[in-house]
Amino acid sequence: MISIKGLTKRFDQLEVLKGMNVEVEKGQVIVLIGPSGSGKTTFLRCLNALEIPNDGTVSIGGSTVDFNKKVTKQELISLRRKTGMVFQNYNLFPHMTALENVMEGPTVVQKRKKSEMREKAIKLLEKVGLGDKIDYYPFQLSGGQQQRVGIARALAIEPEVMLFDEPTSALDPELVGEVLKVMKDLAEEGMTMVVVTHEMRFAQEAADKVIFMDGGYIVEEGPPREVFENPKNERTKQFLNLIQ
Ligand code: ATP
Repeated sequence: MISIKGLTKRFDQLEVLKGMNVEVEKGQVIVLIGPSGSGKTTFLRCLNALEIPNDGTVSIGGSTVDFNKKVTKQELISLRRKTGMVFQNYNLFPHMTALENVMEGPTVVQKRKKSEMREKAIKLLEKVGLGDKIDYYPFQLSGGQQQRVGIARALAIEPEVMLFDEPTSALDPELVGEVLKVMKDLAEEGMTMVVVTHEMRFAQEAADKVIFMDGGYIVEEGPPREVFENPKNERTKQFLNLIQ
C-alpha cells in the first residue's frame, strides 16, 4: 500500500530525512515516535507532498512519484488524493460549519456534486459522533470535537491512507480519549494509517508496527511489544525512559 524508498529531505543545509525506507501493508497501523526535531512531521508531510522531498520515491496505493526526476503537477495531485491528513491544530476553516468543512475537499478539489456530498458528509460526522453538531462553527466546538471534524474531513475524499500528525497533542487531557477512540475504530475497520503520536497506549493497543526515528533515520522498528518492552538500540531505550 505504501512503499517509501531512499526518502531524503533538506531545508537549506539541514538534512532532516536521510534516506528513509518504509513499507506499509494495506490495513496496517504504523506509529512513528521519536524526539522533537527528529523529522516525524516532515516525513508525514513528504508522504502527501505537502513537502517536496529532494530524493527518493513515494508510492501510495498505486501512485508512484520519483523525486529523483522532474515531478509533474498531475503526479503530485494524484499522490495527494490517496491520503487524508489530520493536523495537530485541526486546520479547520473558521468561517465554515462542521458540515461545510467536511464537504469542502470533495466539492471544491474533487469537483463532486454538493447534493451528493452533503449526505455523505452528514454520515461521516455521525460516524465521528457529531451528528448533532453539523451546523456548528469551529469556535462553538471543543478541541476534541474540532479534531473529530478534522478526521471526518480527511475521510471525505475517500483516501486510501490516513496520516495523523500528533492529533491529540493540542487537546486538554480529558478530550484525548474521544479522538483516540475514533482513530481506534478506523483502525479496526481496516484503514491504513500512519500516526505520529506521543500516546504510547494508543501505539500499544492499535499499532502493527512502531518506528522510532532519531536524527532523520529509522533507528529501530518492530511490533509495539518488542520496541516498548525490549528495545534493542540505546537511543530507543533513552527515549522511552524519558517519556514513560
Ligand atoms: P516535533 O516532535 O517537535 O514535532 P518532528 O520530529 O516532527 O518534531 P520536524 O517537525 O519534522 O520534527 O522537524 C525536523 C527538523 O526540520 C527540525 O530541525 C525543524 O526545525 C526542521 N524544519 C521543519 N520544517 C522546516 C521548514 N519548513 N523550514 C526549515 N526547517 C524546517
